[in-house]
Amino acid sequence: MRARSIETARRILCVFPRYTSAFGTFEYAYPLTDGVKAFMPPQGLLLIAAYLPANWPVRFVDENIRAATNEDFEWADAVFVSGMHIQRQQMNDICRRAHAFDLPVAIGGPSVSACPDYYPSFDYLHVGELGDATDDLIGRLAQDPSRPPEQVVLKTIDRLPMTEFPIPAYELAETKKYFLGSIQFSSGCPYQCEFCDIPGLYGRNPRLKTPQQIIAELDRLRECGMTDTVYFVDDNFIGNRKAALELLPHLIEWQKKTGYVMRLACEATLNIAKRPEILEKMREAFFVTIFCGIETPDPDALKAMQKDHNMMVPILEGIQTINSYGMEVVSGIIMGLDTDKPETADALLSFVDQSRIPLLTINLLQALPKTPLWDRLEREGRLVDDDSRDSNVDFLLPYDQVISSWRRAMEVAYQPEKLYARYQYQCDYTYANRLKVPVSPEMKTWANIRRALIMLRNIFWQIGVLGDYKKVFWKFALGRLKRGDLEGLIGPTMIAHHLIKFARAASGGEQNASNYSIRLREASVPAE
Ligand code: SF4
Repeated sequence: MRARSIETARRILCVFPRYTSAFGTFEYAYPLTDGVKAFMPPQGLLLIAAYLPANWPVRFVDENIRAATNEDFEWADAVFVSGMHIQRQQMNDICRRAHAFDLPVAIGGPSVSACPDYYPSFDYLHVGELGDATDDLIGRLAQDPSRPPEQVVLKTIDRLPMTEFPIPAYELAETKKYFLGSIQFSSGCPYQCEFCDIPGLYGRNPRLKTPQQIIAELDRLRECGMTDTVYFVDDNFIGNRKAALELLPHLIEWQKKTGYVMRLACEATLNIAKRPEILEKMREAFFVTIFCGIETPDPDALKAMQKDHNMMVPILEGIQTINSYGMEVVSGIIMGLDTDKPETADALLSFVDQSRIPLLTINLLQALPKTPLWDRLEREGRLVDDDSRDSNVDFLLPYDQVISSWRRAMEVAYQPEKLYARYQYQCDYTYANRLKVPVSPEMKTWANIRRALIMLRNIFWQIGVLGDYKKVFWKFALGRLKRGDLEGLIGPTMIAHHLIKFARAASGGEQNASNYSIRLREASVPAE
């Protein structure tokens, strides 16, 4: 549903800020694609855009693709911004630019919901999810589009049920310019890992959309030209296992009907490995990747962070089980935990070798507001407010030792030989277990063939000819070419290129050790 119609129309400019360079946004892979400029369409802003009264004109600008122009600001009556902590500096910059045009600026999304005090210059703070605060904001702008004399904070008390969410306005986004598509099925997570702000922000009882909503969204994404991988951005796809099991048959049917044009990916807890009935259906629905927050292979550390559910199955066995259903595991890893020892980096590197997971986001612990970790460290006087550091946690080990362990882990884990060996394993053992999908007419379109040819040209030229790890590349690439496996060639080589480049920058001290670091560097993805 949309907000109720209001006669006075206002023109709303929705601006999504640039990302600060991060491991998980894959920007080093973009030059190998056919014009990708940004990571994923932002769910939150596109949802708000779809919710606005039907007669309110909306423009959407993702500054990872292009910067909002003077003409955009001149057109608008008000500006909406949303983003995560890592985009804080860029969000404040958008506010400053909008104020130069004397426009009221509202901010919503996860960062302001957790930390309203990060955003003193915005006119409206929308704290919480879509709901009564959103209606209040719309009502106030309808009544008076000028800047209020002082900041107005609107907090959602009554959330709109997800079953009433409109389809995000995907049609406003340039879907072809995104690395991945995005979709949301649920919000919230039943667990309470010490470092995580999801239960505090979105609750422990997952809220859900209906399978029919998800199918309608997939149809819309397809109409908007999305044909690649679509990522379920839910914090835990199996937060409500019964609901996931009810959704999967609908996804399977949809994939059969539409010819498997989309691969699916999601985030889920590792204990999914205990649920063969879910994994089998995910395989049939063509899920190809699951991001699991493994965090650490150390059982004592998992216990200390209240993530015991990761140990319901021995970790390596769990990963192998998921692989046996054709799904690659991507893993989150945290360093700088209280349980870390001087030998933690070695233990982690040996886990990387044994698990054969190609892609692990290795971050330094960062305390986020609204988490049990934050409260504990505050009590212990171990929160550090120092912009020159890569984490706001006063580690038990010396800071320099933790940073150099992290750099070493990045450097060794992403040596081209090691990374390509892990991808080779995935090709031989994981991808081989995937559903053999028919080649549908939609996959054989000239546009798709052209796209693949452009990516191959870029990969062969930039890595195979100009690259500095071409020997390793060609050994892998020739193996894939001999099998006629272009997909197995394109996907892993693009991702590997990003990982190798990013890890080199990280181990050389040019990248943040935490995705949430307050040490905000200049965003590396330039808006045009
Ligand atoms: S399982 Fe994942 S989403 Fe849930 S609380 Fe733990 S880290 Fe957060």
